[in-house]
Amino acid sequence: MNNKNTPIDYSPLVILILVAALVTVSGLYVWELARKETLVDVSTVLENALQFGVTLNGQTQSRSDKAQQSAKTYTWKMVTSWPKNFPGLGTAPERFAESVNTMSTGRLTIKVYGARELVPALGVFDAVSRGGVEMGHTAAYYSKGKSAATPFFTTVPFGMTAQEMNAWLYYGGGMDLWRELYEPFNLVPLAAGNTGVQMAGWFNKEINSLADLKGLRMRIPGIGGEVFERAGGEAVTISGGELYTSLQTGVIDATEWVGPYNDLALGLHEVTKYYYYPGWHEPGPTLELIVNRDAYQSLPEDLRKIVEVAARSANQDMLDEYTARNNDALKQLVNEHDVQLRRLPDDVIRKLHEASRQVISELVADDPVAYKIYQSYKAFAANVKNYHHLSEQAYLNARDL
Ligand code: CA
Repeated sequence: MNNKNTPIDYSPLVILILVAALVTVSGLYVWELARKETLVDVSTVLENALQFGVTLNGQTQSRSDKAQQSAKTYTWKMVTSWPKNFPGLGTAPERFAESVNTMSTGRLTIKVYGARELVPALGVFDAVSRGGVEMGHTAAYYSKGKSAATPFFTTVPFGMTAQEMNAWLYYGGGMDLWRELYEPFNLVPLAAGNTGVQMAGWFNKEINSLADLKGLRMRIPGIGGEVFERAGGEAVTISGGELYTSLQTGVIDATEWVGPYNDLALGLHEVTKYYYYPGWHEPGPTLELIVNRDAYQSLPEDLRKIVEVAARSANQDMLDEYTARNNDALKQLVNEHDVQLRRLPDDVIRKLHEASRQVISELVADDPVAYKIYQSYKAFAANVKNYHHLSEQAYLNARDL
């Protein structure tokens, strides 16, 4: 069958070579592509892996920090200027502490002390400033000796109401000024309560004209006290716990305290019968929660937020409680205890208003910080008053028509 004349059939070989070449070229091409993609992939993966590693590490680190912070518990002391659990003023810090304890699931617990349990009623500012205790609940105007500007953060005679004070503090720049004022004292202030408009106070005799104020010895703190002196009286500052005895023994002839709800609890009707309104000197006093700055900064961010939110809640809660309870207490005072309710005569109110303007102007004249704060307070008060003439005031008048 071997036929040497038969031409060799090269076609299978050619096909084989062509196929081999095609396979080689394709292989090289695919390999090159694969190599490039692999490089890209490797670098991307490496990069991703590195980032992932960093993220993981960061998360681990941050989780570890947070875990440490979450595990840490803080036990603080809060001193107050009020008798322990005194309605409103004294229960507000207790409720605040309870809220903080619950919201922080026990990570920040605050033990509240009444006046004189750890420090005197008027020693709260200094105690918290020094750092012997972490917190205090008091009123800024008790610290008028530290700065002439402090009364603007409680209340000033013929000044803003509770609603207006809150608007100034939270939306009118007041809170920033307050923080700035307290920074040199190593304190962080927060608003934590408001009693609403107070009563003018308890007097051991009728006040029928300006002449009846002459020589009258009255417990009235803050700027109100200075104004009262301009109007002919004599002002003293004593704490709430001493009011009853001071009135009873004749150390003072008159006192302001808060309003019916608190005054009834203090028993002031037992030692004097004339109860005057309106509270020209305290139209919407803000109570303050002061925190030692170092202690505040030692808290993790979430606990600081809890403190802030609980304070804001306490600020509103106290006003709500007084609004709800004052009139019931007033009825009790008048109907069951024969208290004589009186309105201050117009000439007395006019004199007090005029004296207030003078006293405040003089107070801030030599103190640039107080001056700056007063300008902010005054401008905000003028604006809000302008609108309240058309809103709150117009409505209250309309309702009584
Ligand atoms: Ca008062």
